[in-house]
Amino acid sequence: MKERVVILGAGESGTGSAVLAMVKGHTVFVSDMGIIKDQYKSILDAEGIEYEEKDHSYGRVTDSDLIIKSPGIADDSDIVKEAKKRGIPVISEIEFAGRYTDAFKICITGSNGKTTTTGLIYHILKTAGLNVAVAGNVGESFAMQVARKNVDYYVIELSSFQLDGMYEFKADISVLLNITPDHLDRYNHLFDNYIRSKFRIINNQDDNGYFIYWADDPVITNVINREKIGARLMPFSLTRREGMAAFIDDNKINLLVNNNKETIMTIHDLALKGRHNSYNSMAAAIAGKIVNIRKETIRQCLSDFAGVEHRLESVISVHGINFINDSKATNVNSTWYALECMSGEIVWIAGGVDKGNDYSELFEIAGKKIKAIVCLGKDNEKIKKSFDGIVNTIVETDSMDEAVKSAYYLASKGNTVLLSPACASFDLFTNYEDRGRKFKEAVRNL
Ligand code: ADP
Repeated sequence: MKERVVILGAGESGTGSAVLAMVKGHTVFVSDMGIIKDQYKSILDAEGIEYEEKDHSYGRVTDSDLIIKSPGIADDSDIVKEAKKRGIPVISEIEFAGRYTDAFKICITGSNGKTTTTGLIYHILKTAGLNVAVAGNVGESFAMQVARKNVDYYVIELSSFQLDGMYEFKADISVLLNITPDHLDRYNHLFDNYIRSKFRIINNQDDNGYFIYWADDPVITNVINREKIGARLMPFSLTRREGMAAFIDDNKINLLVNNNKETIMTIHDLALKGRHNSYNSMAAAIAGKIVNIRKETIRQCLSDFAGVEHRLESVISVHGINFINDSKATNVNSTWYALECMSGEIVWIAGGVDKGNDYSELFEIAGKKIKAIVCLGKDNEKIKKSFDGIVNTIVETDSMDEAVKSAYYLASKGNTVLLSPACASFDLFTNYEDRGRKFKEAVRNL
């Protein structure tokens, strides 16, 4: 059926949705409050798609049958509220594109580890020779690929904002890595709302579908124990327990998928170190096994995965001091895992835009492992106050060069300088990638 489709936000996902809607014969109009990047304008122009920027003309936007909203636009923005009041369905790009593909969909969400696990699963499927693509938060949008490519398997990274706009979408395999407080500013400061959002990943799944989740996460298991889940449960755990699809026993990763029990490898052979990456690797191994990939291929992929930039990325060692870039750690929980897997003393570079952090989670580990804190943010008061009395040396800096030099000065041979900010980056940097790149540059200039 031909519909009048309006797309709010002309970034990667909005532009992809516009092209897909056009290809499917709908009437398309794109509206963006900001300035549309040239790269997206030229795509819209080439497809003959109408658009506006620096404004939402209400009349035009609400004269529609369907609105596709970019994840960056909040549900309580005026234009979305107005559309909903008029009964116009507002959905996400993933929901829209899901309507036009029969491909097998493996979807990954969680507060931390999404990109890493998406990368691992993609690597396993690709190495096994499957026709696979990644989509979601990373790279080319799902909608654009559905419009232009023929793909058998999609590995889709989903944020809670994308999940919020999904209704009929059905994953073949869903993965829920963990749930810790994040983005609460978009959820009325209610953790429960954010939990509900994450659980939308299993919506519409039935017993042909699989649900891979971390069984040691009390937040996740609390929901699972209370509610009926349609999909087949595929839990993973750090310890051997009844009913696990993956667990670690005697440092070895074991799988039990579709009644097939296999020992895959020892955790020492995993390419990605740290406890959190054992979880990510187990989740990826279960997904690989569900699509019938041989254990030899899974083992090889989990041991040769190159890692993802800005996630516990080893930069260089200068005079015996290791520099690690974990710029993507934008919340307290991801920083905890970074601290946890370091050996030796740490000089910790932290700070930025705090999304309502509770640093108490870090006190114990900080007391044991952190030698000095180098604050790197416009406002460092909260970090200074929180760690006063726990870490003896706390210094303030306001540029990456200065932060790296101070950390280098404070560290000794055998120590690690860890950039794992626990905060967003927007006060001093364009984004976390910019922050990570500047860190690496400053380290190389030492
Ligand atoms: P996301 O895409 O969910 O933000 P990433 O894979 O980009 O996740 O990793 C973000 C940060 O979280 C990195 O600092 C990484 O070291 C840390 N991390 C990765 N996996 C996990 C996990 N399973 N639990 C907690 N922290 C993790």
